[in-house]
Amino acid sequence: MQERELEKKQQEDERFRFRGGVLALDLVNTEKLKRGKPFEALVTPQDVAQWWQAACEHHPQWQREVQGSDEAIDANDTKLLDALKTLRAALRRIFTALVENTAPRQEDIDVLNNVLRTGHWFTQLSPEGDLLPVYQTEEAHSRILLSCALSALHLIREGEHSRLHRCESDRCILFFYDTTRSATRRWCSTSCMDRARSLQRYRQAKQAAHAHD
Ligand SMILES: [Zn+2]
Repeated sequence: MQERELEKKQQEDERFRFRGGVLALDLVNTEKLKRGKPFEALVTPQDVAQWWQAACEHHPQWQREVQGSDEAIDANDTKLLDALKTLRAALRRIFTALVENTAPRQEDIDVLNNVLRTGHWFTQLSPEGDLLPVYQTEEAHSRILLSCALSALHLIREGEHSRLHRCESDRCILFFYDTTRSATRRWCSTSCMDRARSLQRYRQAKQAAHAHD
């Protein structure tokens, strides 16, 4: 990878944190903690455009599965930004309920269903002879919303809920889907793991010091 590309990827990771492994989780993860304080990665319509461009690189399957217009996002139009944040808030509560083994609220399911209603699907034959579901939406920019909603639907319906986690670091609120074979991942990233482990070592050392007092 070119050095500039690598730098761009690192900046994107710092800003958008593509650590969820699932598009819908990565949307939820655009709200994070930065040095312990809430940080919003989607402030302007341009942020949405940049996030979506990066999201398509991380989750290319939704580019294939969801068809619709790809017109440029108007820098002064906050309609999509607002709709994406409404969906994100509902998804955060739904995923929190799944992690905590409780039933999601009907209002949040309604938000998800309202987005799903903007698309319809049909089957298409691939050159390899497979039948593939393809989703189509006519409304401007609803491709972005629909892709996120379908990704959430897929996780809720087909995912193993025991693999859905919130990072265990006390300074992190990111969600991730654990695809490791052992299914024992506890942190969203190695940096959160390192922080948690050094904190644990620090506490142990302090306890040991107390024991000698
Ligand atoms: Zn984390």
